Amino acid sequence: MTPTILEKVSLQSYNSLALPAEAEYFCSVENHSDLLAALAFARSRDMPVTPLGGGSNIVLAGDILGLVILVNLKGVSSRLENGSAYITFGAGENWHDQVQHCLQQGWYGLENLSLIPGNMGAAAIQNIGAYGVELGDLFVSLTAMNRLSGELVEFDRAACEFGYRDSLFKNAARDRYIIVDICLGLSLEPQLNIQYPALQALVDQHLATGAEITPELVSTMVCQIRREKLPDPSITPNAGSFFKNPVISQAKALQLAQQYPQMPRYAQANGDSKVPAGWLIEQCGFKGLQRGPVAVHQDQALVLVNLGGASGAQVLALGEEVRTAVLEHFEIALEIEPRVYGA
Ligand SMILES: Cc1cc2nc3c(=O)[nH]c(=O)nc-3n(C[C@H](O)[C@H](O)[C@H](O)COP(=O)(O)OP(=O)(O)OC[C@H]3O[C@@H](n4cnc5c(N)ncnc54)[C@H](O)[C@@H]3O)c2cc1C
Repeated sequence: MTPTILEKVSLQSYNSLALPAEAEYFCSVENHSDLLAALAFARSRDMPVTPLGGGSNIVLAGDILGLVILVNLKGVSSRLENGSAYITFGAGENWHDQVQHCLQQGWYGLENLSLIPGNMGAAAIQNIGAYGVELGDLFVSLTAMNRLSGELVEFDRAACEFGYRDSLFKNAARDRYIIVDICLGLSLEPQLNIQYPALQALVDQHLATGAEITPELVSTMVCQIRREKLPDPSITPNAGSFFKNPVISQAKALQLAQQYPQMPRYAQANGDSKVPAGWLIEQCGFKGLQRGPVAVHQDQALVLVNLGGASGAQVLALGEEVRTAVLEHFEIALEIEPRVYGA
């Protein structure tokens, strides 16, 4: 049966920046046959398809032509093998809820990724990461439906070509598949990863009180840091980091370090350096800068916020102003992290 397909649906409550935009056609899919039928509907009318998860990594610059498919595929199944738990999550399961579910089951490894908004499917596209852990570290495989043929294809970790906030699905396979489920391999033994400086500082405070550091406590600490650092999109609409942290060559890093000895930089395996985009933006004097209903967040310069009633064009205009300033000041070209639609 074809899922109900609606016309001219507002997407304002479906994107964490709360930007006003309409989907020409919209449906929610709950199982594979819904998804097949939705894709067939779009094909029969020769219209583009836009999959949507939690809407926390998109900028809607205008209305979206064609069919927006809310990927609402649920379900979680697991098997234990050789000291690991292999868990398959429907693409529409909420990321943070599943991090908590795994902790409750005694399946460890996702603690550092607590409280990242959005759903399981998009997490793989973006190779989400935080506090020293990336999804790719725990990833086993995913199943995706080819948008044209409806065929289900399995991709293992190597095939996904994960990189920093990057994967095959942002490159060679962009717009070719809808992810239907992902499988992660978690440990049955706690494996703490607490080297990340902000986390380590909190761990030290807890150790000083004699507390035992458990994965559950690490998750609680990560949530605490995130709540202190990042605006809650349900109160102050935003899409998290608006720019990727740029990776620059060793030569460029050395040149900048002479000029800005206090510049934080993180060495990469190949000798390049990753520089916090937030720091670069702050140096340009943009922290807290407001342009009409859009602002660079006052505490976190990497986040652009909708103060109320902003349009996607206004968000992108401020993003461009920030990008130009960083380019002029540091000769570093920032790349927007969320995907822009409807431009
Ligand atoms: C406050 C805040 C904090 C954040 N912190 C982090 C962080 O610490 N680390 C991090 O990595 N990210 C972070 N993000 C970004 C965001 O949460 C992640 O990128 C998340 O994985 C997006 O999931 P989503 O379901 O909301 O994706 P959406 O925004 O719905 O979609 C993102 C992209 O994926 C596509 N897509 C969605 N679902 C599917 C599917 N099933 N199949 C194919 N394509 C699909 C969409 O078409 C779109 O192109 C943050 C965002 C916010 C708002």
